[in-house]
Amino acid sequence: MFSTITREFYTSQLQQLNATKQRRQCTTYEPLDSTHVRLEGRTYLMMASNNYLGLTHHPSVIASAQEAITAYGTGSGGARLTSGTYPLLPQLETQLACFKESERALVFNTGYMANVGTISGLLTKGDYILSDALNHASIIDGCRLSGATIKVYEHNNCEHLESLLKALPTTGKRLIVTDGVFSMDGDIAPLPDLITLAKRYEALLMVDDAHATGVIGQGRGTAHYFNCSQDVDIQLGTLSKALGSEGGFVCANELLIDTLINRSRSFIFSTALIPAAIGAAQQSLTLLANDTSLYTQLQHNIDYMTQALLRQGIAVTHKTTTTGLVHDYQPTPIFPIIVGSAEKALQLSQQLFEKGIILTAIRPPTVPQGASRLRLTVTAAHQESDLQYVADTLGQLI
Ligand code: PMP
Repeated sequence: MFSTITREFYTSQLQQLNATKQRRQCTTYEPLDSTHVRLEGRTYLMMASNNYLGLTHHPSVIASAQEAITAYGTGSGGARLTSGTYPLLPQLETQLACFKESERALVFNTGYMANVGTISGLLTKGDYILSDALNHASIIDGCRLSGATIKVYEHNNCEHLESLLKALPTTGKRLIVTDGVFSMDGDIAPLPDLITLAKRYEALLMVDDAHATGVIGQGRGTAHYFNCSQDVDIQLGTLSKALGSEGGFVCANELLIDTLINRSRSFIFSTALIPAAIGAAQQSLTLLANDTSLYTQLQHNIDYMTQALLRQGIAVTHKTTTTGLVHDYQPTPIFPIIVGSAEKALQLSQQLFEKGIILTAIRPPTVPQGASRLRLTVTAAHQESDLQYVADTLGQLI
């Protein structure tokens, strides 16, 4: 029953969020193309999306989604292990495994479900997970659900990670898990160092390439960028960001994928993804594997934005640092413009909105207290004039 006590609980919770400027709501944007949206009759430039290659509106990706619906219908009608595995799913899995230089791949319904289902499907009570402090919420939730003991190491700090590994008991399995490109900071995990530690301390290594697929390493992600695909046990990704579709995936060897098919609850107990999503992802991957132009355009736009921001005196801060070293890794399309307080971030976001730019304020708990920011993302579909306008406007406002 919806009692007074229950009502008061939820009401006061929302009031507290209001008071600390943490209350969220969804704004409905009408997408016009991959970089513009309409809201209340006005057109805005989108600078906050993860559609890194602009593929959501690519004619051949749309056509492939339409063909998939025509061939197989609008829904899959069942879970993968019952009636839901239609031919496009294993086809996409083969394509993903090849693209990620891995033995096998498995598609999940979202990246979130892939993280939750993979970690909880492979680790259990008595095991140990070493997780980067800035890992995505879906990794954190997967770790918690597994029942394993979780040790959080300081962001990209391999010395701290090693000290935690050294102190582990000899029983139980071990997993080191990290984002490949960190979602809110745009920096890259120091994979070669993590591989060394995974080998030294006999831990599985898992990399979440949600923001790296399509973005670094010729689009093949973090392991390819560091030329170490064979040394990463689990490469996870999403179809929903650079690939312009919806869905998650995991690439690993036969043994791990077979284990997930049998043990991963978010894989087993959810209806398989719709044909439109798979058709779109297949074509995005085909484009990425055979045509470097979108990837090259994205790198050009990242460079252009970096220079334009620097000319405005705005520091570009997505360099990876590890214990005293600053690495010269490939730049990524995520530009965290850290402004400090949640109020300041919200105010800037509103001012930018008034100038026709959507740039969302990211606040705690998504980022630490005092590190509220605008998370600016560049895509291959932006024009140089768009990027210049955004940098100039930011220069005036900051
Ligand atoms: N991992 C990371 C690092 C992410 O940023 C996200 C999405 N924000 C996910 C996983 C979840 O992916 P999806 O949106 O496909 O559920």
